[in-house]
Amino acid sequence: MGEDSQCAVNCAKCPGPVCYSAAFMKGPENCPTKIEADVIEKAMSRYHDPQFAEFARVSSIVEAEAYTRVPWAPQTVSPATTRLEEIINLAKKMGYKKLGVAFCLGLMNEAKILIPILENRGFDVISVCCKLGGIAKEEIGVKDEEKIVPGRYESMCNPIAQAEIFNKEKTDFNIVVGLCVGHDALFLKSAEALTTVFVVKDRLLGHNPVAVLYQSSAYYRRLLAKDQPSS
Ligand code: SF4
Repeated sequence: MGEDSQCAVNCAKCPGPVCYSAAFMKGPENCPTKIEADVIEKAMSRYHDPQFAEFARVSSIVEAEAYTRVPWAPQTVSPATTRLEEIINLAKKMGYKKLGVAFCLGLMNEAKILIPILENRGFDVISVCCKLGGIAKEEIGVKDEEKIVPGRYESMCNPIAQAEIFNKEKTDFNIVVGLCVGHDALFLKSAEALTTVFVVKDRLLGHNPVAVLYQSSAYYRRLLAKDQPSS
């Protein structure tokens, strides 16, 4: 939506969020709490769908348990858990037994560390690498000059097959470890079980993509420039 479209919902430009509090109706004119009541009501009915109801409730409990109070700052809450511990906590509370780990070949070492951690907590873990099948990239229309290294055999990433194996194995819950941009989207769309993301791939930033925003007024300020009109 363009900046001149006054009614378009744009929470990231909210002058002062109130939706987290009991003053939730005091947001700006384009606040979705005010103008999208139908959508919110429809969404609420989905939280009561048995497919999501318990998961939604437990996720909020895991969120709350991610905070604690420390003696030197008792007036506020402090973070208490890592993302990995929250994933384990959520899966435990949900009573999940079988987990699917969809990992990128480039993060095989991370998967090797992660899987025993999950197994030590009693989960059965199936892991599938993104390159399964070894199918040539040409099969999906990639030209030789569009490969990482032209002239060599390159297997395509196969997130749909990763998801289909988990679907066949009827995993209770899936965990993404560093799938590429786009491949992650195909996996999320294809997996039948709910999926969380443990690692978001960022080849330059040590899988910490938000670092680019922290550097956007310095080394990555080029990203704030508007695209030049194409000639
Ligand atoms: S929901 Fe409303 S109050 Fe919350 S961030 Fe969006 S516009 Fe602001």
